[in-house]
Amino acid sequence: MAADELGEFERIRRFFAPLAGAGGLGLLDDAGLVDCRAGRSLVITADAIVAGVHYLPEDPPELVARKLLRVNLSDLAAMGARPLHYILTTALPAELGQEWLARFAQGLGEDQRHFGIELLGGDSVGTTGPAVLSLTAIGEIATGKEVRRSGAEPDDLVWVSGAIGDAFLGLRLLRGAHPDLAREDRDYLIRRFRVPDPRTELGPLLSGTAHAMIDISDGLLADLGHICETSHVSAQVELVSLPLSPAAQTIVEADPDIRPRLAAAGDDYELLFTAPAACSEAIAALRSRLGIPITRIGKIGPGAGVLLVDDRGRVIPLDHTGYRHF
Ligand SMILES: [Mg+2]
Repeated sequence: MAADELGEFERIRRFFAPLAGAGGLGLLDDAGLVDCRAGRSLVITADAIVAGVHYLPEDPPELVARKLLRVNLSDLAAMGARPLHYILTTALPAELGQEWLARFAQGLGEDQRHFGIELLGGDSVGTTGPAVLSLTAIGEIATGKEVRRSGAEPDDLVWVSGAIGDAFLGLRLLRGAHPDLAREDRDYLIRRFRVPDPRTELGPLLSGTAHAMIDISDGLLADLGHICETSHVSAQVELVSLPLSPAAQTIVEADPDIRPRLAAAGDDYELLFTAPAACSEAIAALRSRLGIPITRIGKIGPGAGVLLVDDRGRVIPLDHTGYRHF
């Protein structure tokens, strides 16, 4: 029997009700319930993905689910919030059978255990177009402690978590580039593209330290540009400082021209933030405590715009600085 033959209610009961937390009320009521503790604000974000646009229809459904959830958790982390719940709306074509839905729900189940969050509710509809998956994530933060994009100040240092460019290289590998790369490096980069690691621990710990923060989805330079625009400042990024994974380093050594493109590549879901120089020791302590790289890559200045510079301070021209949907 195909999933569409199950009907909406049986579909919800079978695949999604097991994911519901206490606030989801077993997905049996008209809406879910969220307790908002005194002195806390809810932080809410939504992202939708479309088959054939944001993922390939043949991509493993578990991984599609996990990426959908993780990109939203990354947005919560970028505000400094801890994730609590999510709401899921799926519009699926009839040809996606029960097995696809079961695997999609399994991916969500694994990740919600990993991140300690629960399903609150949502909707499940059919469509004659491509699959559309929309997820709303809800987190919380002490009121007034959120980190906005607009707080960067001249003389702040610019920092980034993890490694840059892995997701871009992973997508290139899936499209047939770098066929001679070792299997281990291939697997690592493709995984970084398919299943990003949102910095859900680091984000909340940067509240009170970071002046401004964003997660890298459009590309490091483009996302830093968003911080600069909203903060009315400029930024300079040193190409040589960009943190690369060993797998990315291998590709850059064979093809040095690709390095500047990594500064413009998106989908890494690392945290990019600015902080006053006086916070550098606190940031180094976070790096040791969490065991993840946090690298200083540049500096904020007055004025406007983002420049990428080489080790002698010369500006590196780029043909584009990030992905644009429209
Ligand atoms: Mg974002």
